[in-house]
Amino acid sequence: MTSAVVVGGGPNGLAAAALLARAGLAVTLLEAADEVGGGTRSYEALLPGLLHDHCSAIHPMAVTSPALRALDLERHGLRWLLADLDCVHPLDDGSAGVLAKSVEDTVRMLGADGDRYRALVEPSVRRWDALAQDVMGPLLRIPSHPLLLARFGLPTALPATALARLFTTPQAKALWAGVAAHAFRPLHRPLTSAIGLGILTAGHAAGWAVAEGGSQAIARAMERVLRQHGGTIHTGVRVTDHRQIPPADVTLLDLDPGQIAAIYGDRLPRRVRAAHRRFRRGPAAFKVDLAVEGGIPWRNAHARRAGTVHLGGTITEVARAEREVAAGRMPERPFVLVGQQYLADPSRSVGDVHPVWAYAHVPYGYDRDATQAVLGQIERFAPGARERVLGVQVTSPRDFAEFNPNFAGGDIMTGAETVPQLLLGTRPTLDPYSTGLPGVFQCSAATPPGPGAHGMCGAKAAAAALRHVGATGA
Ligand SMILES: Cc1cc2nc3c(=O)[nH]c(=O)nc-3n(C[C@H](O)[C@H](O)[C@H](O)COP(=O)(O)OP(=O)(O)OC[C@H]3O[C@@H](n4cnc5c(N)ncnc54)[C@H](O)[C@@H]3O)c2cc1C
Repeated sequence: MTSAVVVGGGPNGLAAAALLARAGLAVTLLEAADEVGGGTRSYEALLPGLLHDHCSAIHPMAVTSPALRALDLERHGLRWLLADLDCVHPLDDGSAGVLAKSVEDTVRMLGADGDRYRALVEPSVRRWDALAQDVMGPLLRIPSHPLLLARFGLPTALPATALARLFTTPQAKALWAGVAAHAFRPLHRPLTSAIGLGILTAGHAAGWAVAEGGSQAIARAMERVLRQHGGTIHTGVRVTDHRQIPPADVTLLDLDPGQIAAIYGDRLPRRVRAAHRRFRRGPAAFKVDLAVEGGIPWRNAHARRAGTVHLGGTITEVARAEREVAAGRMPERPFVLVGQQYLADPSRSVGDVHPVWAYAHVPYGYDRDATQAVLGQIERFAPGARERVLGVQVTSPRDFAEFNPNFAGGDIMTGAETVPQLLLGTRPTLDPYSTGLPGVFQCSAATPPGPGAHGMCGAKAAAAALRHVGATGA
């Protein structure tokens, strides 16, 4: 029987392992932590029963991911849930940019900018299923839908600040800036529209969904598929040397490029090792999980119904904060993302105490305490919020790196979304999953299509591995 070893059980490692097992390979997965899931784990830190997501929370790309759909995770217990509104970006005057699941509702909320917004997203939303085949994989290949991809791709090449000129109202500009800031890049750089437009388009197709019972449910569903097809999981195994990896026909590494270089050392072809060592890391996250009695008292009423709230003020302010962070300086008012997953999934709350998930963009390796900066941004748009906070659990960049070696320096994207890395992954090659070692593939979020709990890096690497052994099925 053909065998496979997968190192790292994040969503990409799990997707690869489950797809390979389903294709008939004997799969063994090695995971450093005491449970699989990587960036899709959840925990009860502040109060028994009060459930926070450690990392990934909101999943427009996962719901529409061809990899997760292929695994039919709903049959294995995964259920996607939506809040009333997808995302709200409040401003100091009490108004807000509002994103709803439906394009039409969003158009209505955006008022004077509604028609321009519709023109920007609607053609791609209607064909998202076809487009996802091209967008959620390596970009350096012949697309299946070239015209559709070109229509979607032209605006993605623009810096987010340039695309923002399409809009006239401060609310629409700020909403766009907050979504584009998911790229963790200065918004005046080329291609910073790409991730934002991908999230908006997938979001209108599927909603900014959360997993019932926490993001851990995504990992558990994949784990079930893997075990159902005979796969074996060993937790508590941190691989630091290639000799720890059992021999197999194919090996897939859900590991960041720096770890791959360290684990394989000079066995890697020199050009690959050099590229992996040169691989650029991005800024970090400083996370603050809160137990909040009665929820956050947002001044803007729409924010009280939104699964995600972006805090950063106007586009000018968000762009300045992102520029500072990328330059290694901590802004006084960082860009903060707030998750209110309990609005979609009330099972995560305990009575009237609700889990609120928040993180700020901070410089790579930031080693000071950003808790007050995060709370300050919340209080700015929700006066009185601090008084409702019953408990605080902080995850600093250093904690993230300990929690998951792929998040070195607190870089939760597994690499900077620079133009070359966004387009090519870890190095210029037509096979971005290859490590240059026969039968050894990489499948972490450092490979195309990049970060997110969508499992597509794992699925594409699994397909490359199956081609290597002459099998089909992933
Ligand atoms: C705070 C935060 C918020 C986020 N929000 C979202 C969101 O809302 N939506 C979204 O889609 N994505 C979000 N993400 C990103 C998403 O979680 C990641 O992009 C995704 O988890 C990457 O998946 P992966 O499989 O490549 O790697 P990871 O999830 O990083 O998993 C890698 C796994 O490998 C293990 N491992 C690492 N090194 C070794 C080793 N040497 N030996 C053995 N095992 C090892 C790790 O323990 C881990 O389990 C967020 C991430 C964070 C941290």
